[in-house]
Amino acid sequence: MTSEPTTHWTIKDAAALYGIDAWGKGNFGLNAAGEVTVKAPFVSGEIAVPLTEIVAGAVARGHNMPLLLRIENLLDDRIRLINETFRAAIADVGYRGEYQGVFPIKVNQQCQVIKEICRFGARYHLGLEAGSKAELLIALASLPEHGLLILNGYKDREFVDLGLWANKLSYRCFFVIESPAELPLIIERSRALGIAPLLGVRVKVSAKVGGLWTETSGDRSSFGLSPTQLIGVVEQLKNEELLDCLQLLHCHLGSQIPALADIRTGVREASRFYADLVREGAPLSCLDLGGGLAIDYTGTLENQVHSRDYQLADYCHTLVATIAATLDPLGITHPHIVTESGRAMIAHSSLLIFNILDTMHFEAEPFPKTLPPDAHPATGQLFTLFKHLADTDDLIATYQGALAGRDTLRELFRGGEINLRERSLAENIFLAIAQHIASRLVALTTIPAELAGLKANLADIYYGNFSVFQSLPDTWAIGQLFPVMPINRHLEAPTREAIISDLTCDCDGKLDTFIVAGKEQSTLPLHPLRDEEDYLLGVFLMGAYQETLGDLHNLFGDTHVVSIRINEGGGFDVLNELNGDTIAEVLSFVEYHPQTLFEAFRSRVEGAVRAGRMSVAERQQLVEEYAANLNGYTYFEQ
Ligand SMILES: *Cc1c(COP(=O)(O)O)cnc(C)c1O
Repeated sequence: MTSEPTTHWTIKDAAALYGIDAWGKGNFGLNAAGEVTVKAPFVSGEIAVPLTEIVAGAVARGHNMPLLLRIENLLDDRIRLINETFRAAIADVGYRGEYQGVFPIKVNQQCQVIKEICRFGARYHLGLEAGSKAELLIALASLPEHGLLILNGYKDREFVDLGLWANKLSYRCFFVIESPAELPLIIERSRALGIAPLLGVRVKVSAKVGGLWTETSGDRSSFGLSPTQLIGVVEQLKNEELLDCLQLLHCHLGSQIPALADIRTGVREASRFYADLVREGAPLSCLDLGGGLAIDYTGTLENQVHSRDYQLADYCHTLVATIAATLDPLGITHPHIVTESGRAMIAHSSLLIFNILDTMHFEAEPFPKTLPPDAHPATGQLFTLFKHLADTDDLIATYQGALAGRDTLRELFRGGEINLRERSLAENIFLAIAQHIASRLVALTTIPAELAGLKANLADIYYGNFSVFQSLPDTWAIGQLFPVMPINRHLEAPTREAIISDLTCDCDGKLDTFIVAGKEQSTLPLHPLRDEEDYLLGVFLMGAYQETLGDLHNLFGDTHVVSIRINEGGGFDVLNELNGDTIAEVLSFVEYHPQTLFEAFRSRVEGAVRAGRMSVAERQQLVEEYAANLNGYTYFEQ
């Protein structure tokens, strides 16, 4: 449907509508030409490069849409920002420990990403957190010397052995004990290999936090030790004369925690655990507070699941000050503070760009000003409603009357009492009524509940060349919101209201919740398509968790990935290009052998030649096309 007409549309209106200055702060913005830019900070000033230029560079290198774009500068900057902000908070509070960050590999395991994290993180001694054997293998081959390695998750003998050997490779490798059953194995292997372990204990913090991911904390969390188990582990370590190995206390309150007050409560409780373990004689030196630092996806800075009611500086200050305030009265030395911020470190640096293939409109086609003489009385009633729209004030009654009229006419059609042409006329009259009512709702401050769904029901469908399940799985699985907006044309008012549907044949494959002007809305204002011109949408801040959670629904595979670095002198370099999955690759993931498929198809075509249905030249063309498709992209290609 169309949205309200705006006479003097400016870039400011576009920025306010899509919220880009709020969620994109410092990283994304709009330029005078109405294009979304990526902004990279340099000592000499900020360089802004339009996304359209970057996309053109990728397309020129043979990477069509959809495309995952990684911007190295943004990752570099985020690592710097988190570390420097903690340092500033430490200086401000007069805290006597240091800050040490750790990147949890599960948040984005992609090889290129881990490499960049280790490279940019080196100046801050950024460590890694591994939660499985596969992640441990990545860490052991990636982490710079003397790096901090935190091992969570289930630990079998191989995992424990590798972790112990890691200490000989100069790493400071902590086994975080999540259940009392893990300790005997670690002790046994440590004695067998003659390598003393570094140990941490994960505690269950009872303070509940808000957000979409709350199950990681509280009594019923499947992770961490209860107070009784904690005492048991300490006793066991004392008996084995290994208490000096226990140097770290770990807790993880959850991911994307929206309220700073919840974080403060959790940190206070963790600090109390820390204090009492020290008083039990454990030589603790690190307090690891896990992840949870949220991203303000909506840009609204509020206590709701897709946002947060604090800035990075508030988070850092709260952690540092709360630990100090809890430990100081007890005379306990300030620990080094470790955090495992994954989302906050990586989300900004990736965005998905896809083109719109087609649109569907739900609006009335022009219909005659008078009804045909043989029209059914029910059509006549609907038409009368339409003609009196301008004089009615009761929009609810009119809409309900129109709905009832349309239902009646649909029933008459099913019963064979009206024909296809009259049904079509009735549907058009109904749409015209609905559109009129929707246009009058714009002026209302509160929309009556009876009319609440009207706008969404009239929204256009924009068909996007991407798969929600492959590229944005959390939008489907848990209703996660990401900022979505066109990457250019912001000098024009977006005159359509739309939802976005993906390529999969699945009614869940869509984006239908957006943040528009700071509010959750069921439709997104977009521009009408133009002939011969791609309309490109960007999904922003999606670098955390999406890539490996994505699946092969309808056999849409990985998208192309292009990593770029913005240069201080302007422009950008393409650093790394990864081709998306080919159809053959995706088929082999589900146990087909592309070669066998090809041969089976070829012999079928040969059969058609034998039967005289096809010439040899046609056979050759078809066989070549099949082969080309096997090696092609799984997405729509122009
Ligand atoms: C998932 C996880 C994290 C990352 O949390 P974010 O909210 O992404 O920062 C950190 N630590 C542990 C133990 C985790 O399981």
